[in-house]
Amino acid sequence: MDHPADAPAAPSAADFIREIITEDLRTGKHNGRVHTRFPPEPNGYLHVGHAKSICLNFGVAAEFAGLCNLRYDDTNPTKEDVEYVESIEEDVRWLGFDWGDRKFYASDYFERLYQYAEQLVRDGKAYVDDLSADQIRTYRGTLTEPGRNSPYRDRPVEESLDLFRRMRAGEFPDGTYVLRAKIDMASPNINMRDPTLYRIRHAAHHRTGDAWCIYPTYDYAHPISDALEGITHSLCTLEFEDHRPLYDWVIEHTHPPYRPRQIEFARLNLNYTVMSKRKLLQLVEQRLVSGWDDPRMPTLAGIRRRGFTPEAVRDFCTRIGMAKKENVVDVALLEHTVREDLNRRALRALAVLRPLKVVIENYPEGREEHVEATNNPEDAAAGTRRLPFSRELVIERDDFMEQPPKKFFRLAPGAEVRLRYGYILKCERVIKDGSGAITELRCTYDPESLSGQTAARRVKGTIHWVSARHARDAEVRLYDRLFQSPDPGEGDRDPITDINPRSLERLTGCKIEPGLADAPAGTRFQFERLGYFCVDPDSRPGAPVFNRTVTLKDTWAKIAGRQGEKVEK
Ligand code: ATP
Ligand code: MG
Repeated sequence: MDHPADAPAAPSAADFIREIITEDLRTGKHNGRVHTRFPPEPNGYLHVGHAKSICLNFGVAAEFAGLCNLRYDDTNPTKEDVEYVESIEEDVRWLGFDWGDRKFYASDYFERLYQYAEQLVRDGKAYVDDLSADQIRTYRGTLTEPGRNSPYRDRPVEESLDLFRRMRAGEFPDGTYVLRAKIDMASPNINMRDPTLYRIRHAAHHRTGDAWCIYPTYDYAHPISDALEGITHSLCTLEFEDHRPLYDWVIEHTHPPYRPRQIEFARLNLNYTVMSKRKLLQLVEQRLVSGWDDPRMPTLAGIRRRGFTPEAVRDFCTRIGMAKKENVVDVALLEHTVREDLNRRALRALAVLRPLKVVIENYPEGREEHVEATNNPEDAAAGTRRLPFSRELVIERDDFMEQPPKKFFRLAPGAEVRLRYGYILKCERVIKDGSGAITELRCTYDPESLSGQTAARRVKGTIHWVSARHARDAEVRLYDRLFQSPDPGEGDRDPITDINPRSLERLTGCKIEPGLADAPAGTRFQFERLGYFCVDPDSRPGAPVFNRTVTLKDTWAKIAGRQGEKVEK
């Protein structure tokens, strides 16, 4: 069948997967259908690595006028939980994808998987083995030595069938028997040395309850689940490459209605980041983070709370592309992508994180005026707002130095600086307390210097500020990388030993411009000169909490610039 003329063209950045699909459509394989699936195991929250897989599976389906299923790969009853199921759906939707009415569970196929397994036994392609897990390992051989046949490998079909049925009926304790495929104990591919298809596990499943006490392995359940759903291209990460012959074997010998094809791609690895659910669970359980959605976590729930946008995450997944070889992506590229997106969209605001009081001695007491501030220089439609200005302000402590080095263009005794959107301010005197700590600055302003006026003078530095009387209080949480090593847990080290002890700094008593105090959770701003910030769900009326999403300093732009790459500004 020909590729239908009205199907969307393949995207310009065709990778090897999209090339394969284009070719399959051209040759009429799979009757011109494209059907993918995203198959998370509900044993933890999704992370940015999963985002790569989600963007690929749902993206490919959309580009080729196909479909993508959400399928829970829930074959392991002891580690799975409904909490995870719910978080996964929220995260996939947040990324901007929709599975329509195609939400499936591998556990929905338990009966059919079992029937296929009985068929394998009857066909002489599977047998029940009495060997223990340890014995099976010993018999399996090594990369250089072939394995040995189990003494039970050639037991009569009827005996295997009877034992398999009794395994299902719950007659045997865990670990007494397994069902194994009868393939080839001398295969150079260890996955083909009579792999286990079913184990006995007397454990309640979060969906099927106590209906089952035998559970299929991933290698057995996955290809059949794909086939039952009519999946055409089963996209998975490289560690499954050596399992592909087994995937094909299962399809070949169970004769399901469809023949999906498995294609592997490189998983996303990020430096300074731990991305295995097992290790992330450890961080949560040991309370090294506040939860799965701690803004330092690489989970989608965490980066969402941190203020990352779904657009930026999708853009990042496009930029990293689809490789066939493992690599490590610089986390600075992710931060750069977020920064670029927020630069386009975030409203600007003035906020002072570590306030220092300023009194403008020549500004009349009780007077108040408004200056006009630009909401987003990247977006004319965002308009302007009016900021209150008065005799007492707060500025950032480190925007003042009593003994400034050369090229310090901020405030110092006798020096002038421009207040953002406002006047030129001159520092006249420094007030200190008994211990010598600076408590306030006495300043004057130049009434003829309002920003934006044609005749306004120019000075070198500009600093941000908030009118003290109008400012509202906020808590601000500053984050740094959770791990201080580029490869946490390198070698056999416990990654926890690489945790950055200064990954969270909480500042209270920060001063924000009045309009920000009631912004709903999730609202993102650029605090001018400080970075991008997002309102945290911990906020209460009158007590807003902000997370710093990223700083303004772009280390990726620096790296890319050094390597002579083009950096969009
Ligand atoms: P982890 O190793 O983090 O526990 P997993 O592979 O066990 O992840 P699954 O729930 O089985 O997690 O993954 C669902 C899908 O997401 C699979 O197809 C898997 O290949 C893919 N995936 C998981 N991690 C990554 C990653 N880092 N990069 C790309 N795809 C990934
Ligand atoms: Mg897995």
